[in-house]
Amino acid sequence: MTFHLDKIFKVLKRVQIDNYSCGSCNKKTNLDLIIKGGYITLLFIPMLPLKKDYTLTCFNCGKRIKKSDLNYIEKEKVVNEFNSTRYKVPFRHFSGILIVLTILGFAINTGVQMKKKEKEYILKPNKKDVYLIKNNFGYTTYKVQNVTSDSIFVYKNNFIVDHFSKIKSIDVDTNYKILQGFKLSEVIKMYNSNIIYEINRKEP
Ligand SMILES: [Zn+2]
Repeated sequence: MTFHLDKIFKVLKRVQIDNYSCGSCNKKTNLDLIIKGGYITLLFIPMLPLKKDYTLTCFNCGKRIKKSDLNYIEKEKVVNEFNSTRYKVPFRHFSGILIVLTILGFAINTGVQMKKKEKEYILKPNKKDVYLIKNNFGYTTYKVQNVTSDSIFVYKNNFIVDHFSKIKSIDVDTNYKILQGFKLSEVIKMYNSNIIYEINRKEP
């Protein structure tokens, strides 16, 4: 997933400050002051306000002027103009944050609920539970075939994939051929050490 971040700027005010002697074009001219405010968007949803900013250019030659190049009076004028603008971002602009937080909260909660369920699944295995396995060779799956009081028997998948995203593609009945027994305590250990990193059960 890639995140598309953008900065959206708006001109809050544009004023000319007169009587400026430009050191670049040597003309008595005006300073062009542009004050900007804005916000950052994530996937085109406004997320955070940006600090107010400004640019100063010579109205005659267009050269960028630094604040440090101004005399005391000019500096005062610029600061006063800057402080007189207020960029109030309408609250609805930032509803994006709420949306993202809500989705995030929902995702976390779903994750917690799933882990809770998995703990039940590992303690009380069912026939046809599918264990997603990560070992030194890659990712594979086991499918529970039979459960006794202290052991479970699983069909091991014939295939191993190099990335967890491919695991769905090998979880097909024809790949389960080799039966192996485990002590229930062993399987719990595998779950606690994340070798079994997910358990899928088709709820009726
Ligand atoms: Zn100039």
